[in-house]
Amino acid sequence: MSDAVAIVGGGPAGSYVATELARAGRHVVLMDEKLAWEKPCGGGITHKALSQYPFLRDEHVERNWVDRCELTSPSGQRVCFPLGQPIAIFSRRVLNGFLLERAKTAGAKLVQSRVTSIQGSAGAWQLQSTSGLMGAAYLVLAAGARNPFRSQFSLQFSPSDLMATAGYYVPGNSSCMQLQFLQGLHGYIWIFPRSDHFSAGICGRMGRMSTAELRRLLEKTLSAAGLDFSRAKFYSHVLPALSSSALRHSRVSGPGWAMVGDAAGLVDPITGEGLYYALRSAELLTSALLEDAPEAYSYLLEQHVLAELEMAARVANRFFTGEWMGEAVPEMMVHYTQTSEHFRQLMCDLFAGTQGYRDLRQRLYRTLPSIAAESAVRALGLRRDRSPMPSELRSAS
Ligand SMILES: Cc1cc2nc3c(=O)[nH]c(=O)nc-3n(C[C@H](O)[C@H](O)[C@H](O)COP(=O)(O)OP(=O)(O)OC[C@H]3O[C@@H](n4cnc5c(N)ncnc54)[C@H](O)[C@@H]3O)c2cc1C
Repeated sequence: MSDAVAIVGGGPAGSYVATELARAGRHVVLMDEKLAWEKPCGGGITHKALSQYPFLRDEHVERNWVDRCELTSPSGQRVCFPLGQPIAIFSRRVLNGFLLERAKTAGAKLVQSRVTSIQGSAGAWQLQSTSGLMGAAYLVLAAGARNPFRSQFSLQFSPSDLMATAGYYVPGNSSCMQLQFLQGLHGYIWIFPRSDHFSAGICGRMGRMSTAELRRLLEKTLSAAGLDFSRAKFYSHVLPALSSSALRHSRVSGPGWAMVGDAAGLVDPITGEGLYYALRSAELLTSALLEDAPEAYSYLLEQHVLAELEMAARVANRFFTGEWMGEAVPEMMVHYTQTSEHFRQLMCDLFAGTQGYRDLRQRLYRTLPSIAAESAVRALGLRRDRSPMPSELRSAS
């Protein structure tokens, strides 16, 4: 009988588990059908993720640092502001290659093959793949949002738990990322500058708009931004955006197996941030396995990840399609980012990942008088310029 831990999927979640277990001397075999590839993604990594996983910040890997953000509201109101903490934007081929290399150096065996079936039970798994049959004692499912084994181990994602995405890799460079909200779109458009190209894409709740419609909206925005996508490579993929009840009720582990990252549906349903949660869930699973307490994984996930994601899931609809003070939420968000320093600081903290959803409402209520006053002063043109507005901050409305 094999004592191996088999990991299906070599994205950030799978390669992180492989690295940490192999470092601790475990026998690890990671299988991925493509290994390092340009997985459809923005590639944006927040300050919170960079601080918790400093090798992403400190090691010599190609990435682009973005220190400004431009937001465009559904009515076309625009604001560009400096991010307090820069965001790193990676090509996914580079990021996956870097993380897989760490796993290999730690002693994990990497196999390029597609797993086609999994049978057996705890301690005696049999994995059939394009490179043959393999036995394993423990199984880690890290096969991403299209995880073909999800229904075998847990609840299948329903269409309402997914976002459709479409995008292009367009040549060019910048240190400013752009986000655009559109009327009636439960999602947004992003233009993320990498070191030598932009990952420009759109996401929308599955079933509300077809991929073709999303693509048309994106192309219109890219043309307006002066980006030539005529020879750019097109991509589309799905992004988990689970409801709070799906997050609460989906099984993420059982006897002899666990799911991590997108395979477990661990993505922020508002921002689409999944890289941090892939690494965080991988870290929590690894610590449970190294304590010989695999059953602790779902408890750790609940404590450290699910509460925040469930809160995001509860407010996601309201964020994209609801109103705040009689206007669409993204409209007010852009307005106050432009007119209030307190609100701008809150946005910087949200982009850095240091402001969570659970205490967002309290912070908003606490700072609302300052936000309203700053906004009113600006509207009346009475602002005495004691602390000058950063020169990068400009209104383009
Ligand atoms: C368009 C788009 C934009 C995004 N932008 C961002 C962003 O800017 N920032 C952010 O934080 N998150 C972003 N995300 C989310 C992010 O891409 C994911 O959360 C992240 O990749 C999850 O990592 P993972 O390791 O769980 O899964 P994945 O990265 O999907 O890795 C899964 C791996 O499993 C392999 N695999 C699948 N099936 C099999 C099989 N049967 N056998 C062998 N191997 C298999 C695949 O080849 C793949 O390499 C975006 C997602 C999309 C779709």
